[in-house]
Amino acid sequence: MALIVKKFGGSSVATPDKMRAIVQRVLKGKQPGDKVVVVVSAMGDTTDDLVSLAKQITSKTYGREMDMLLSTGEQVSIALMAMAFQEAGQAAISFTGAQAGITTSDAFNKGRILELQPDRIMKALDDDNVVIVAGFQGITGRGDITTLGRGGSDTTAVAIAGAIQADVCEIYTDVDGVYTSDPRVVPNAQKMKEITYGEMLEMAKLGAGVMQPRAVEMGSRFNVPIHVRSTFSEAEGTVIQEVCSMKIKQYLIRGVAQDKNVAKITVLGIPNKPGYAYKVFSELAKKHVDVDMIVQSVRIAKEGVTDITFTIDRAELPAAREVLEHIRTEMPVEDILVDDTMAKVSIVGAGMAGHPGIAAGMFGVLGDNGINIEIISTSEISITCLIGEENVDVAVKAIHAHFFDEH
Ligand code: ADP
Ligand code: ASP
Ligand code: MG
Repeated sequence: MALIVKKFGGSSVATPDKMRAIVQRVLKGKQPGDKVVVVVSAMGDTTDDLVSLAKQITSKTYGREMDMLLSTGEQVSIALMAMAFQEAGQAAISFTGAQAGITTSDAFNKGRILELQPDRIMKALDDDNVVIVAGFQGITGRGDITTLGRGGSDTTAVAIAGAIQADVCEIYTDVDGVYTSDPRVVPNAQKMKEITYGEMLEMAKLGAGVMQPRAVEMGSRFNVPIHVRSTFSEAEGTVIQEVCSMKIKQYLIRGVAQDKNVAKITVLGIPNKPGYAYKVFSELAKKHVDVDMIVQSVRIAKEGVTDITFTIDRAELPAAREVLEHIRTEMPVEDILVDDTMAKVSIVGAGMAGHPGIAAGMFGVLGDNGINIEIISTSEISITCLIGEENVDVAVKAIHAHFFDEH
Protein backbone atom coordinates (compact mmCIF):
# COMPACT_ATOMS: atom_id res chain seq x y z
CA MET A 1 0.00 0.00 0.00
CA ALA A 2 1.53 3.26 -1.09
CA LEU A 3 0.78 6.91 -0.38
CA ILE A 4 1.75 8.93 -3.44
CA VAL A 5 1.48 12.54 -4.60
CA LYS A 6 1.50 13.00 -8.39
CA LYS A 7 1.79 16.47 -9.87
CA PHE A 8 0.93 17.23 -13.49
CA GLY A 9 2.14 20.48 -15.06
CA GLY A 10 0.35 22.78 -17.49
CA SER A 11 1.28 21.05 -20.74
CA SER A 12 0.29 17.68 -19.22
CA VAL A 13 -3.30 18.85 -18.57
CA ALA A 14 -3.61 21.13 -21.61
CA THR A 15 -6.70 19.40 -23.12
CA PRO A 16 -9.58 17.16 -21.96
CA ASP A 17 -7.98 14.26 -23.88
CA LYS A 18 -4.72 14.73 -21.98
CA MET A 19 -6.67 14.80 -18.72
CA ARG A 20 -8.38 11.54 -19.64
CA ALA A 21 -4.98 10.00 -20.47
CA ILE A 22 -3.71 11.01 -17.00
CA VAL A 23 -6.75 9.39 -15.38
CA GLN A 24 -6.05 6.13 -17.24
CA ARG A 25 -2.38 6.21 -16.26
CA VAL A 26 -3.09 6.94 -12.59
CA LEU A 27 -5.71 4.18 -12.40
CA LYS A 28 -3.43 1.68 -14.20
CA GLY A 29 -0.65 2.26 -11.69
CA LYS A 30 -2.91 2.27 -8.62
CA GLN A 31 -2.82 -0.94 -6.58
CA PRO A 32 -5.74 -1.77 -4.29
CA GLY A 33 -5.29 0.20 -1.07
CA ASP A 34 -3.00 2.81 -2.64
CA LYS A 35 -3.84 6.39 -1.75
CA VAL A 36 -3.24 9.00 -4.45
CA VAL A 37 -3.24 12.80 -4.34
CA VAL A 38 -3.09 14.50 -7.75
CA VAL A 39 -1.88 18.10 -7.87
CA VAL A 40 -2.54 19.96 -11.11
CA SER A 41 -1.47 23.19 -12.76
CA ALA A 42 -3.60 25.43 -14.97
CA MET A 43 -4.30 24.08 -18.47
CA GLY A 44 -1.59 24.82 -21.08
CA ASP A 45 -0.68 28.51 -21.22
CA THR A 46 -3.63 29.64 -19.09
CA THR A 47 -1.48 31.40 -16.46
CA ASP A 48 0.42 33.34 -19.14
CA ASP A 49 -2.89 34.27 -20.77
CA LEU A 50 -4.26 35.55 -17.46
CA VAL A 51 -1.10 37.60 -16.90
CA SER A 52 -1.46 39.22 -20.30
CA LEU A 53 -5.15 39.92 -19.67
CA ALA A 54 -4.18 41.85 -16.54
CA LYS A 55 -1.50 43.73 -18.52
CA GLN A 56 -4.23 44.94 -20.86
CA ILE A 57 -5.92 46.56 -17.86
CA THR A 58 -2.90 47.96 -16.00
CA SER A 59 0.90 48.17 -15.90
CA LYS A 60 0.81 48.51 -12.09
CA THR A 61 1.06 45.66 -9.58
CA TYR A 62 -2.18 44.84 -7.81
CA GLY A 63 -0.98 41.86 -5.76
CA ARG A 64 -4.23 40.73 -4.21
CA GLU A 65 -6.33 41.02 -7.34
CA MET A 66 -3.62 39.39 -9.44
CA ASP A 67 -3.73 36.33 -7.20
CA MET A 68 -7.52 36.29 -7.32
CA LEU A 69 -7.13 36.16 -11.11
CA LEU A 70 -4.21 33.72 -11.44
CA SER A 71 -5.64 31.17 -9.01
CA THR A 72 -8.65 30.63 -11.28
CA GLY A 73 -6.53 28.70 -13.79
CA GLU A 74 -5.85 25.82 -11.40
CA GLN A 75 -9.46 25.81 -10.23
CA VAL A 76 -10.60 24.98 -13.77
CA SER A 77 -8.17 22.05 -13.92
CA ILE A 78 -9.15 20.47 -10.59
CA ALA A 79 -12.87 20.49 -11.35
CA LEU A 80 -12.35 18.92 -14.78
CA MET A 81 -9.90 16.33 -13.44
CA ALA A 82 -12.28 15.29 -10.66
CA MET A 83 -15.06 14.88 -13.22
CA ALA A 84 -12.74 12.86 -15.49
CA PHE A 85 -11.90 10.45 -12.64
CA GLN A 86 -15.57 10.04 -11.79
CA GLU A 87 -16.42 9.38 -15.44
CA ALA A 88 -13.87 6.55 -15.31
CA GLY A 89 -15.63 5.07 -12.28
CA GLN A 90 -13.16 6.30 -9.65
CA ALA A 91 -14.43 8.39 -6.72
CA ALA A 92 -12.61 11.72 -6.68
CA ILE A 93 -12.91 15.14 -5.06
CA SER A 94 -11.29 18.45 -5.93
CA PHE A 95 -9.88 20.93 -3.40
CA THR A 96 -8.63 24.49 -3.84
CA GLY A 97 -5.45 25.38 -1.94
CA ALA A 98 -7.53 26.75 0.94
CA GLN A 99 -9.73 23.64 1.09
CA ALA A 100 -6.59 21.50 1.10
CA GLY A 101 -5.50 23.32 4.27
CA ILE A 102 -2.67 25.41 2.80
CA THR A 103 -1.98 28.64 4.71
CA THR A 104 0.58 31.04 3.26
CA SER A 105 2.32 34.28 4.14
CA ASP A 106 0.58 37.40 2.84
CA ALA A 107 3.18 38.16 0.14
CA PHE A 108 0.84 38.19 -2.85
CA ASN A 109 2.25 36.59 -6.04
CA LYS A 110 4.91 34.77 -4.04
CA GLY A 111 3.25 33.44 -0.94
CA ARG A 112 5.21 31.05 1.22
CA ILE A 113 3.50 28.01 2.65
CA LEU A 114 3.47 28.52 6.43
CA GLU A 115 1.24 25.65 7.42
CA LEU A 116 -0.48 22.69 5.84
CA GLN A 117 -3.34 21.02 7.73
CA PRO A 118 -3.96 17.83 5.75
CA ASP A 119 -7.01 16.60 7.72
CA ARG A 120 -9.46 17.10 4.90
CA ILE A 121 -7.13 15.46 2.36
CA MET A 122 -6.59 12.48 4.68
CA LYS A 123 -10.31 12.09 5.35
CA ALA A 124 -11.08 12.11 1.61
CA LEU A 125 -8.30 9.56 0.97
CA ASP A 126 -9.67 7.34 3.74
CA ASP A 127 -13.03 7.50 1.96
CA ASP A 128 -11.29 5.99 -1.13
CA ASN A 129 -11.21 9.16 -3.19
CA VAL A 130 -8.47 10.21 -5.50
CA VAL A 131 -7.89 13.72 -4.14
CA ILE A 132 -7.27 16.45 -6.70
CA VAL A 133 -5.61 19.62 -5.35
CA ALA A 134 -5.11 22.94 -7.13
CA GLY A 135 -1.40 23.70 -7.35
CA PHE A 136 0.18 27.15 -6.98
CA GLN A 137 -2.28 28.56 -4.43
CA GLY A 138 -3.08 28.98 -0.76
CA ILE A 139 -4.84 31.35 1.56
CA THR A 140 -3.56 33.86 4.13
CA GLY A 141 -4.57 33.82 7.78
CA ARG A 142 -6.88 36.72 6.88
CA GLY A 143 -8.64 34.70 4.20
CA ASP A 144 -7.14 36.19 1.03
CA ILE A 145 -6.16 33.90 -1.86
CA THR A 146 -2.43 33.91 -2.65
CA THR A 147 -0.29 32.29 -5.33
CA LEU A 148 3.14 30.76 -4.73
CA GLY A 149 5.20 32.22 -7.59
CA ARG A 150 5.52 30.85 -11.13
CA GLY A 151 6.04 27.11 -11.14
CA GLY A 152 4.46 26.95 -7.67
CA SER A 153 2.43 23.79 -8.27
CA ASP A 154 5.67 21.85 -7.69
CA THR A 155 5.80 23.35 -4.21
CA THR A 156 2.16 22.52 -3.49
CA ALA A 157 2.83 18.90 -4.44
CA VAL A 158 5.97 18.47 -2.35
CA ALA A 159 4.43 20.29 0.63
CA ILE A 160 1.44 17.95 0.59
CA ALA A 161 3.76 14.95 0.23
CA GLY A 162 5.66 16.19 3.30
CA ALA A 163 2.52 16.84 5.34
CA ILE A 164 0.91 13.45 4.65
CA GLN A 165 4.28 11.66 4.79
CA ALA A 166 3.91 10.27 1.28
CA ASP A 167 6.36 7.65 0.06
CA VAL A 168 7.24 9.73 -2.98
CA CYS A 169 6.27 12.90 -4.81
CA GLU A 170 6.17 12.36 -8.57
CA ILE A 171 6.49 15.44 -10.77
CA TYR A 172 5.11 14.62 -14.23
CA THR A 173 6.15 17.07 -16.92
CA ASP A 174 7.00 17.46 -20.60
CA VAL A 175 10.62 16.25 -20.22
CA ASP A 176 11.54 12.80 -18.92
CA GLY A 177 13.80 13.96 -16.11
CA VAL A 178 16.37 16.48 -14.98
CA TYR A 179 19.11 16.97 -17.57
CA THR A 180 22.62 18.40 -17.32
CA SER A 181 21.16 21.46 -19.04
CA ASP A 182 17.80 22.48 -20.51
CA PRO A 183 17.40 19.88 -23.30
CA ARG A 184 15.54 22.45 -25.41
CA VAL A 185 18.68 24.59 -25.50
CA VAL A 186 21.37 21.90 -25.39
CA PRO A 187 20.19 18.95 -27.52
CA ASN A 188 22.92 16.60 -26.27
CA ALA A 189 22.31 17.31 -22.57
CA GLN A 190 22.32 14.10 -20.53
CA LYS A 191 19.53 12.82 -18.31
CA MET A 192 20.56 12.28 -14.68
CA LYS A 193 19.41 9.17 -12.82
CA GLU A 194 19.60 11.03 -9.54
CA ILE A 195 20.69 14.33 -8.03
CA THR A 196 20.95 15.61 -4.45
CA TYR A 197 18.56 18.22 -3.03
CA GLY A 198 21.49 20.61 -2.64
CA GLU A 199 22.58 20.47 -6.27
CA MET A 200 19.01 20.51 -7.60
CA LEU A 201 18.17 23.50 -5.41
CA GLU A 202 21.15 25.39 -6.80
CA MET A 203 20.24 24.43 -10.40
CA ALA A 204 16.62 25.51 -9.82
CA LYS A 205 17.57 28.82 -8.18
CA LEU A 206 19.90 29.56 -11.08
CA GLY A 207 17.16 29.07 -13.65
CA ALA A 208 16.62 25.34 -14.37
CA GLY A 209 12.85 25.80 -14.58
CA VAL A 210 12.02 22.10 -14.34
CA MET A 211 11.45 22.48 -10.56
CA GLN A 212 10.49 25.48 -8.45
CA PRO A 213 13.34 26.07 -5.95
CA ARG A 214 11.00 26.14 -2.96
CA ALA A 215 9.70 22.69 -3.88
CA VAL A 216 13.23 21.31 -3.66
CA GLU A 217 13.77 23.08 -0.31
CA MET A 218 10.54 21.57 0.96
CA GLY A 219 11.57 18.08 -0.23
CA SER A 220 14.85 18.42 1.61
CA ARG A 221 13.16 19.68 4.79
CA PHE A 222 10.68 16.79 4.94
CA ASN A 223 13.00 14.27 3.29
CA VAL A 224 10.50 13.46 0.52
CA PRO A 225 12.08 11.80 -2.53
CA ILE A 226 11.02 13.71 -5.66
CA HIS A 227 10.80 11.75 -8.92
CA VAL A 228 10.78 14.02 -12.00
CA ARG A 229 9.44 12.10 -15.00
CA SER A 230 7.49 12.35 -18.23
CA THR A 231 3.70 12.48 -18.51
CA PHE A 232 3.96 11.10 -22.01
CA SER A 233 6.29 8.11 -21.54
CA GLU A 234 6.83 5.35 -19.00
CA ALA A 235 10.59 5.98 -18.81
CA GLU A 236 12.16 6.26 -15.36
CA GLY A 237 13.04 9.86 -14.65
CA THR A 238 15.38 11.54 -12.17
CA VAL A 239 15.15 11.06 -8.41
CA ILE A 240 16.00 14.06 -6.24
CA GLN A 241 17.03 12.90 -2.78
CA GLU A 242 19.46 13.48 0.07
CA VAL A 243 22.18 11.04 -0.89
CA CYS A 244 22.98 9.74 -4.35
CA SER A 245 24.24 6.23 -4.86
CA MET A 246 25.99 7.00 -8.13
CA LYS A 247 29.66 6.16 -7.79
CA ILE A 248 30.41 5.36 -11.41
CA LYS A 249 31.88 8.75 -12.13
CA GLN A 250 32.72 11.51 -9.71
CA TYR A 251 31.29 14.57 -11.38
CA LEU A 252 32.90 17.94 -10.72
CA ILE A 253 30.09 19.70 -12.57
CA ARG A 254 26.52 18.44 -12.48
CA GLY A 255 24.81 20.93 -14.72
CA VAL A 256 24.71 24.21 -16.60
CA ALA A 257 21.76 26.53 -15.91
CA GLN A 258 20.54 29.71 -17.52
CA ASP A 259 18.16 32.46 -16.52
CA LYS A 260 16.98 34.98 -19.09
CA ASN A 261 14.74 36.77 -16.67
CA VAL A 262 17.30 39.12 -15.19
CA ALA A 263 17.35 42.90 -14.85
CA LYS A 264 20.42 44.82 -13.73
CA ILE A 265 20.05 48.04 -11.76
CA THR A 266 22.90 50.44 -11.00
CA VAL A 267 22.49 53.20 -8.45
CA LEU A 268 25.21 55.73 -9.24
CA GLY A 269 26.84 58.07 -6.77
CA ILE A 270 25.45 57.02 -3.40
CA PRO A 271 27.25 58.63 -0.42
CA ASN A 272 30.02 56.27 0.71
CA LYS A 273 28.89 56.32 4.35
CA PRO A 274 27.44 53.77 6.76
CA GLY A 275 23.72 53.12 6.41
CA TYR A 276 23.14 53.92 2.74
CA ALA A 277 23.30 50.36 1.40
CA TYR A 278 20.96 49.38 4.24
CA LYS A 279 18.51 52.08 3.21
CA VAL A 280 18.39 50.91 -0.44
CA PHE A 281 18.04 47.19 0.28
CA SER A 282 15.69 47.48 3.25
CA GLU A 283 13.27 49.57 1.16
CA LEU A 284 13.42 46.92 -1.59
CA ALA A 285 12.86 44.15 0.96
CA LYS A 286 9.79 45.92 2.35
CA LYS A 287 8.23 45.64 -1.12
CA HIS A 288 9.28 41.96 -1.32
CA VAL A 289 11.77 42.58 -4.16
CA ASP A 290 14.30 39.74 -4.09
CA VAL A 291 17.79 41.02 -4.79
CA ASP A 292 20.25 38.57 -6.26
CA MET A 293 23.83 39.54 -7.20
CA ILE A 294 25.14 42.69 -5.49
CA VAL A 295 28.33 44.59 -6.29
CA GLN A 296 29.39 47.78 -4.55
CA SER A 297 32.42 49.60 -5.89
CA VAL A 298 34.07 52.73 -4.59
CA ARG A 299 34.85 55.32 -7.24
CA ILE A 300 38.55 55.99 -7.25
CA ALA A 301 38.11 59.14 -9.34
CA LYS A 302 35.52 60.75 -7.07
CA GLU A 303 35.84 60.73 -3.35
CA GLY A 304 32.92 60.10 -1.03
CA VAL A 305 30.63 58.28 -3.44
CA THR A 306 30.05 54.69 -4.39
CA ASP A 307 28.06 52.82 -7.06
CA ILE A 308 25.90 49.83 -6.25
CA THR A 309 24.87 47.36 -8.95
CA PHE A 310 22.43 44.54 -8.29
CA THR A 311 20.22 42.13 -10.20
CA ILE A 312 16.56 41.22 -9.74
CA ASP A 313 13.95 39.14 -11.51
CA ARG A 314 12.56 41.15 -14.44
CA ALA A 315 9.01 40.61 -13.23
CA GLU A 316 9.88 42.67 -10.15
CA LEU A 317 11.11 45.65 -12.13
CA PRO A 318 7.92 47.74 -11.74
CA ALA A 319 8.00 47.29 -7.93
CA ALA A 320 11.76 48.03 -7.83
CA ARG A 321 11.33 51.18 -9.94
CA GLU A 322 8.68 52.49 -7.53
CA VAL A 323 11.02 51.92 -4.57
CA LEU A 324 14.02 53.50 -6.30
CA GLU A 325 12.08 56.58 -7.40
CA HIS A 326 11.06 57.02 -3.77
CA ILE A 327 14.65 56.53 -2.53
CA ARG A 328 15.79 59.21 -4.95
CA THR A 329 13.65 61.76 -3.15
CA GLU A 330 15.22 60.83 0.20
CA MET A 331 18.96 60.58 -0.50
CA PRO A 332 21.43 62.16 -2.90
CA VAL A 333 21.85 59.81 -5.87
CA GLU A 334 23.47 60.79 -9.20
CA ASP A 335 21.49 58.44 -11.41
CA ILE A 336 19.74 55.10 -11.58
CA LEU A 337 20.37 52.89 -14.63
CA VAL A 338 18.21 49.91 -15.55
CA ASP A 339 19.15 47.22 -18.06
CA ASP A 340 16.47 44.59 -18.64
CA THR A 341 18.36 42.63 -21.29
CA MET A 342 20.67 40.65 -19.01
CA ALA A 343 20.91 36.92 -18.36
CA LYS A 344 22.78 34.58 -16.06
CA VAL A 345 24.67 31.48 -17.01
CA SER A 346 25.82 29.18 -14.21
CA ILE A 347 27.64 25.95 -13.59
CA VAL A 348 26.63 23.82 -10.61
CA GLY A 349 28.40 20.96 -8.88
CA ALA A 350 29.23 20.02 -5.30
CA GLY A 351 32.51 18.58 -6.56
CA MET A 352 33.93 21.83 -7.92
CA ALA A 353 35.21 23.20 -4.60
CA GLY A 354 38.97 22.99 -4.48
CA HIS A 355 39.31 22.84 -8.27
CA PRO A 356 40.32 26.37 -9.29
CA GLY A 357 40.62 25.37 -12.95
CA ILE A 358 36.85 25.06 -13.20
CA ALA A 359 36.19 28.81 -12.93
CA ALA A 360 39.00 29.56 -15.36
CA GLY A 361 37.55 26.98 -17.78
CA MET A 362 34.14 28.68 -17.73
CA PHE A 363 35.54 32.20 -18.19
CA GLY A 364 37.81 30.93 -20.99
CA VAL A 365 34.85 29.51 -22.92
CA LEU A 366 32.99 32.83 -22.65
CA GLY A 367 36.10 34.75 -23.73
CA ASP A 368 36.68 32.44 -26.71
CA ASN A 369 33.13 33.17 -27.82
CA GLY A 370 33.58 36.92 -27.49
CA ILE A 371 31.07 37.12 -24.63
CA ASN A 372 31.67 39.83 -22.03
CA ILE A 373 31.13 39.00 -18.36
CA GLU A 374 29.51 41.86 -16.41
CA ILE A 375 29.38 40.34 -12.92
CA ILE A 376 30.68 37.07 -11.47
CA SER A 377 29.30 35.51 -8.32
CA THR A 378 30.08 32.23 -6.64
CA SER A 379 28.70 29.91 -4.00
CA GLU A 380 30.32 26.78 -2.64
CA ILE A 381 28.70 24.73 -5.37
CA SER A 382 28.19 27.15 -8.26
CA ILE A 383 29.70 29.89 -10.39
CA THR A 384 27.45 32.43 -12.12
CA CYS A 385 28.28 34.99 -14.82
CA LEU A 386 26.01 37.87 -15.78
CA ILE A 387 26.05 38.32 -19.56
CA GLY A 388 23.91 39.91 -22.28
CA GLU A 389 20.70 37.98 -22.94
CA GLU A 390 21.50 37.73 -26.65
CA ASN A 391 24.54 35.57 -25.84
CA VAL A 392 23.03 33.14 -23.39
CA ASP A 393 22.15 30.22 -25.69
CA VAL A 394 25.60 30.23 -27.28
CA ALA A 395 27.18 30.48 -23.82
CA VAL A 396 25.21 27.57 -22.36
CA LYS A 397 25.94 25.31 -25.33
CA ALA A 398 29.65 26.13 -25.33
CA ILE A 399 30.04 25.76 -21.54
CA HIS A 400 28.12 22.47 -21.60
CA ALA A 401 30.32 21.17 -24.43
CA HIS A 402 33.46 22.20 -22.50
CA PHE A 403 32.51 20.31 -19.33
CA PHE A 404 30.48 17.39 -20.64
CA ASP A 405 31.55 16.43 -24.17
CA GLU A 406 34.35 13.95 -24.53
CA HIS A 407 37.31 15.79 -26.02
P1 ADP B 1 5.45 22.04 -16.09
O1 ADP B 1 4.45 22.88 -16.80
O2 ADP B 1 5.21 20.58 -16.25
O3 ADP B 1 5.65 22.44 -14.65
P2 ADP B 1 7.88 23.44 -16.80
O4 ADP B 1 7.85 24.14 -18.12
O5 ADP B 1 7.70 24.25 -15.59
O6 ADP B 1 6.83 22.24 -16.86
O7 ADP B 1 9.25 22.61 -16.64
C1 ADP B 1 9.68 21.74 -17.65
C2 ADP B 1 10.67 22.44 -18.56
O8 ADP B 1 11.85 22.74 -17.81
C3 ADP B 1 11.18 21.60 -19.70
O9 ADP B 1 10.32 21.67 -20.81
C4 ADP B 1 12.57 22.18 -19.98
O10 ADP B 1 12.58 23.01 -21.12
C5 ADP B 1 12.86 23.05 -18.76
N1 ADP B 1 14.18 22.80 -18.16
C6 ADP B 1 15.06 23.77 -17.80
N2 ADP B 1 16.19 23.24 -17.32
C7 ADP B 1 16.03 21.90 -17.35
C8 ADP B 1 16.87 20.79 -16.97
N3 ADP B 1 18.10 20.98 -16.46
N4 ADP B 1 16.39 19.54 -17.14
C9 ADP B 1 15.15 19.34 -17.64
N5 ADP B 1 14.32 20.34 -18.04
C10 ADP B 1 14.75 21.60 -17.89
N1 ASP C 1 0.23 27.66 -13.37
C1 ASP C 1 1.31 28.22 -12.62
C2 ASP C 1 2.39 28.74 -13.56
O1 ASP C 1 2.22 28.66 -14.78
C3 ASP C 1 1.90 27.27 -11.61
C4 ASP C 1 2.58 26.05 -12.18
O2 ASP C 1 2.34 25.72 -13.35
O3 ASP C 1 3.36 25.43 -11.47
O4 ASP C 1 3.39 29.24 -13.12
MG1 MG D 1 6.77 23.96 -13.74
